[in-house]
Amino acid sequence: MDDIPYIKIPDDYEGYSLNTFCVPRHYEQDLERILVPQGVIADRTERLARDIFDDMGDSSALVVLCVLKGGYKFCSDLLNYVQALNQNAGRSVQMRIDFIRLKSYENDKSTGQIHVVGGDNLENLESKNVLIVEDIIDTGHTMQRLLKVVGGHNPKAVKVCSLLVKRTPRSIGYRPDYCGFEIPDKFVVGYALDYNEYFRDLGHICIINEEGKRKYAI
Ligand code: 5GP
Repeated sequence: MDDIPYIKIPDDYEGYSLNTFCVPRHYEQDLERILVPQGVIADRTERLARDIFDDMGDSSALVVLCVLKGGYKFCSDLLNYVQALNQNAGRSVQMRIDFIRLKSYENDKSTGQIHVVGGDNLENLESKNVLIVEDIIDTGHTMQRLLKVVGGHNPKAVKVCSLLVKRTPRSIGYRPDYCGFEIPDKFVVGYALDYNEYFRDLGHICIINEEGKRKYAI
């Protein structure tokens, strides 16, 4: 990933204490630290939108494939920034949005199996420029599987934009084309990233604590 720009958050980075930003009261006991405040996410997303826009040639069109549920907020914000460029730059990139839903995690552990559990008809991807928008790449297995599924529908080209990439020894070495932040090997929630469906309603990306894991375990 050394050839693409991203923000590297080091292992010893402490982040921010919960009482320095606004966090919903119902999660105050369940979080260790704030890793990426939502204002920083927004600023980084704006730049990713510009990089994607700049890389797209004239008169090109894009099918954005949003990976649900965790990618919905990032995808929505990213596309709003591209839309602003479309409205104000001398050229524009036409976009269509499709959704795919995958499931691989229970509690904070991968089940080892990745299931496509819903979404649009992927036959629409044939001969299109596809941009997959994902919340986080951990081991890389999910993206490897998804790229196979998408590739099976004969797109013209496929690129991947992930808000987060985890630095983990379990990684298979997969790297996306666009990345917001590389983060330490911790389980993070917020900004639509969940723990058993909780914490999607938290604006900042935070590290969950043991109490949070216990309270919302299944
Ligand atoms: P991978 O297959 O790369 O190991 O895992 C990718 C998927 O696992 C992500 O799309 C996400 O659903 C889930 N995941 C991995 N790490 C985290 C994490 O720290 N927090 C949350 N909320 N989900 C994660």
